[in-house]
Amino acid sequence: MPRHIRIVLVEPSHPGNIGAAARAMKTMSLDALVLVRPARFPDAEANARASGALDVLRLARVVATLDEALQGCTLVAGTSARPRDLGPPPLTPHACAAMLRQTPPDVDVALLFGRERTGLTNEELERCHFLVHIPANPEYSSLNLAAAVQILAYELLLARGSTSAATEGDALPASVEDMEGLYAHLESAAVAAGFLDPQHPKHLMRRLRHLFNRAQPDPREINILRGLLTALQRTRHG
Ligand code: SAH
Repeated sequence: MPRHIRIVLVEPSHPGNIGAAARAMKTMSLDALVLVRPARFPDAEANARASGALDVLRLARVVATLDEALQGCTLVAGTSARPRDLGPPPLTPHACAAMLRQTPPDVDVALLFGRERTGLTNEELERCHFLVHIPANPEYSSLNLAAAVQILAYELLLARGSTSAATEGDALPASVEDMEGLYAHLESAAVAAGFLDPQHPKHLMRRLRHLFNRAQPDPREINILRGLLTALQRTRHG
């Protein structure tokens, strides 16, 4: 996951939206805000809407051109409220975050957001490596600017979280061998108990496989299940 992800607002006209975007970012642990030719900034309304995120506003960089905003970036994503004719089909915020999760930490990323009234120009979108569209009511698909920032920032937070969850010692799922051991044990116990007729097995084992493959048990959970099966078999025979 890239360490540096900047949020770029292109020509925002309402300072309230800048403040609300700063707040949306801070709640999701993002802090790099770049403003391209904001109509009014700094501004009391931006401060008011930022609530406790004044630090994000204080650090915000104000620039005159998109080129300056994108300096040092290697990956640029543009957001759009409506489908555009040009370019590849847009990603959902979730797919965008999943893609960034596979991106090395030292790649600098910019997420571009457009003007409240007119969005990003085609020329600006051409600077983007990919587009993101938040699925919405087709009759009314334009979210408030800060709300759009919130949704993308939230997906990025989830993607970052799942990276660390995977590395911070969650037990790995059981091996194929362990799973096969469980299925063989379940099957022999089911036959011995008279629950499964080996002449007419139907789909029982296939269904059980689906169930446990979905659950992705770890080795300890497999041991519990097999221990339980052994104990139940013992009471039956004993
Ligand atoms: N009428 C403009 C709407 C702009 S809304 C247009 O059609 O593009 C302001 C900005 O919020 C957009 O430029 C985009 O950055 C973001 N935004 C709003 N709704 C969005 C959506 N459904 N998907 C992605 N971004 C969206």
